[in-house]
Amino acid sequence: MSTTIDANSFPVYRGRMEYVCLGCGKRFPIDELLYTCPECGGVFLLENLDFEQLKKTSGAEWRALFDARAGTKNTALRGIFRFYELIAPVLEEEDILYLGEGNTPIVKSPANLQQTTGVTAAFKNDGQNPSASFKDRGMACAFSYLQHLIRKNHWDQVLTVCASTGDTSAAAALYASAIGGPVQSVVILPQGKVTPQQLAQPLGSGATVLEVPGVFDDCMKVVEHLADNYRVALLNSKNAWRILGQESYAFEIAQWFDWDVADKCIFVPIGNAGNVTAIMAGFLKLHQLEIISDLPRIFGVQSHHADPVFRYYAVEDPTERLFEPVQVTPSVAQAAMIGNPVSFPRVRHFAERFEAIGGPGAFQVVQVTEQQIMEGMILANRNGHIACTQGGECLAGATRAGKLGLISPSELAVLDSTAHQLKFVDFQNMYFQDRFPPEFEVTPNPEMANLPTPVIDASERDRLPPEEYAVAAATNIVNRLGLEKK
Ligand SMILES: *Cc1c(COP(=O)(O)O)cnc(C)c1O
Ligand SMILES: [Zn+2]
Repeated sequence: MSTTIDANSFPVYRGRMEYVCLGCGKRFPIDELLYTCPECGGVFLLENLDFEQLKKTSGAEWRALFDARAGTKNTALRGIFRFYELIAPVLEEEDILYLGEGNTPIVKSPANLQQTTGVTAAFKNDGQNPSASFKDRGMACAFSYLQHLIRKNHWDQVLTVCASTGDTSAAAALYASAIGGPVQSVVILPQGKVTPQQLAQPLGSGATVLEVPGVFDDCMKVVEHLADNYRVALLNSKNAWRILGQESYAFEIAQWFDWDVADKCIFVPIGNAGNVTAIMAGFLKLHQLEIISDLPRIFGVQSHHADPVFRYYAVEDPTERLFEPVQVTPSVAQAAMIGNPVSFPRVRHFAERFEAIGGPGAFQVVQVTEQQIMEGMILANRNGHIACTQGGECLAGATRAGKLGLISPSELAVLDSTAHQLKFVDFQNMYFQDRFPPEFEVTPNPEMANLPTPVIDASERDRLPPEEYAVAAATNIVNRLGLEKK
């Protein structure tokens, strides 16, 4: 192995990248922003034509390099671009935008949670990214590429647009505000279908926030119309640069487990299906370069209220499978509440490759109920985690997979908490306060509720002198908790 690893200098290797259409196979140069194939409307992947050159470096050398970079203070290599050669090796050091994304921790579930669920699990807390969701991984790459284009073309005005279930807009607005100058961020949200925290984020970042009555799928159509007909930069996961950045999630899991993921089961919520696409693509790259010798198994998870991908794979015979969009109904996994996932062709593409190497069952999709998602979140967070509802969906998915005999307790289920708990506390509170509208189909279990208890009547604060008020309040607490004297 090389003893002269330079973990701090920006790499000299450059690849040659092209858009490849998954519909018709046509290829297009990357000096233009393209989202869908001008020929057939298909979705793109980005391919490095010089990927083969990377095979001249051994798997061991790549592992050593990536491990060494984990300690670098060069911010261009510190976040997702620690894996520069595998992500977008056409960018220059000055293009790279780093806001602290990536390197999110994997936290093992305590024994108590494992006993309750019957699965051995750990959460990867992607809510610990700067805008509190995994979307930052994709935005770091998409905005770095945008900076590259701005620099090369001397653009003086760029309007970035996205439709969002909340987190895409939070991330896009944050990264756009960091570049500033020529970049102005516009986000389009389904009115009333994002949490107050998610709405506050793009507002706080100074984005133009536009609301469309309807669901995400309606917003996506609006944004597609804009991207097809006007000069705007689209930041939805149709934008293949985002997929590249999100592959870092897979690279980080492999690195965390010392490049051995043979007995790992990766659970991912599926909404627009960009994330699950990226995670499969990422592991496949590591496998091609012999950085890992075995693939993990991938489990997509969907709610029964938004489950088109589950329905597709539920048909046993691959020749009989037919993709059909579904009409979504309200879901606590709101960030994944999508009936017509844009990246479905990408999922099919990578799932085939995953199964070709990993065998049948290397990629599967499980379905869970809204009740299970909500209780998954609450249970996780009562056991030291900081899971969002989509993280709860993953725990519910792993529990379900355990019950179905699809995973065993000797395997580790790595659960994607795609966002931070705090973005989705409103659902937690709806559960605790028993105020879910019936369409959610969530019936709170009163034993799982947790509500604040007033200790003393407010009028006592006016009636009593301050010391006595404190003692009276403390005495009420003593009685309530049954405290014993020292
Ligand atoms: C976007 C998002 C998802 C869904 O990811 P897709 O790539 O659209 O499948 C899940 N959870 C959270 C928190 C998200 O923000
Ligand atoms: Zn095409």
